Amino acid sequence: AAKTAGRNRFAWFDRSMEHALQARNEVESGLRDAIPQQQIVPYFEQQVDLATGQLSGFEVLARWEHPLRGLIGPEAFIPVAEETGMIADLSLSIIRQAFLAARDWHPSLTLSVNISPWQLKDAWLAQKIIKVLTETGFPASRLEVEITESSLFDNLALAQSIVGSLKNQGIRLALDDFGTGYSSLAHLRALPFDRIKIDKSFVTSICENPESAAIVTAIAKLGDSLNLPTTAEGIEDADTEERLRGIGCAKGQGYLYGRPMSAAKVRQLLAERGLLIASGPTDARSVI
Ligand code: C2E
Ligand code: MG
Ligand code: MG
Ligand code: MG
Repeated sequence: AAKTAGRNRFAWFDRSMEHALQARNEVESGLRDAIPQQQIVPYFEQQVDLATGQLSGFEVLARWEHPLRGLIGPEAFIPVAEETGMIADLSLSIIRQAFLAARDWHPSLTLSVNISPWQLKDAWLAQKIIKVLTETGFPASRLEVEITESSLFDNLALAQSIVGSLKNQGIRLALDDFGTGYSSLAHLRALPFDRIKIDKSFVTSICENPESAAIVTAIAKLGDSLNLPTTAEGIEDADTEERLRGIGCAKGQGYLYGRPMSAAKVRQLLAERGLLIASGPTDARSVI
């Protein structure tokens, strides 16, 4: 019986692998059309200045508005886009759509975009991003690029040169998901970061877990001494927000402030708060 069970288990395992492979191939072929058709769209997650409570900008997050399957999150397609090299087109498409959407947003609002480590192997990446800035008229000074730690060292010299070109234009650089990667501290010196983003895996539990609180406090202090402001991601309740304010994190984001939302929803929110610039003589500076 054990033998049969074992065999069955293997049979089941094979079938599930087959399904996984099938699903992956479906994603791959779907993506090829989805990118040019702009089914991959930017969603926006609010980032808040913790000291004042004011909206400071948004992180741009990829979503697939699938005509049959509805809204699909990035975990389901970003890895496939990376493996197939489609990430380059996907990313530039998202960035372009985000910049265009943000054209009548208040000029104090920033955008943070995620760049995959794979893109840091493209020697022309900086030029491509700068071209999209120029074409859409979005100011470089309002753009922050988020890079995760994973495989940052694959080609460090190239990554450094790309990042150098971005920074020359006034684009800022954030180290994303800090603390989750390999050799986090080494990365801090490898590239000229302007900000550290503390991963949500530490942030969500600071009120229940003293170790998490200690880690977040240590990261904030580290940021302080390196002159790098921190952004805490994954803030889901007011207690956590209060703790982070006490710890001295500069910015926060998370479901407490709202789920990532479409460009249309952002417009609505900004209109309510007087943060849309009218396309006439502008004085829409009233806040909230
Ligand atoms: P990330 O850059 O660390 O983005 C934060 C993720 O945490 C987002 O998930 C966001 O929706 C989620 N999140 C934010 N606040 C909360 C919270 O309070 N609680 C919880 N439980 N989760 C929260 P999302 O949108 O699924 O993105 C996952 C990852 O996919 C991102 O992690 C980023 O690494 C990647 N990604 C997203 N868009 C892009 C893109 O355009 N290009 C690239 N290369 N990667 C992207
Ligand atoms: Mg990010
Ligand atoms: Mg992050
Ligand atoms: Mg994260």
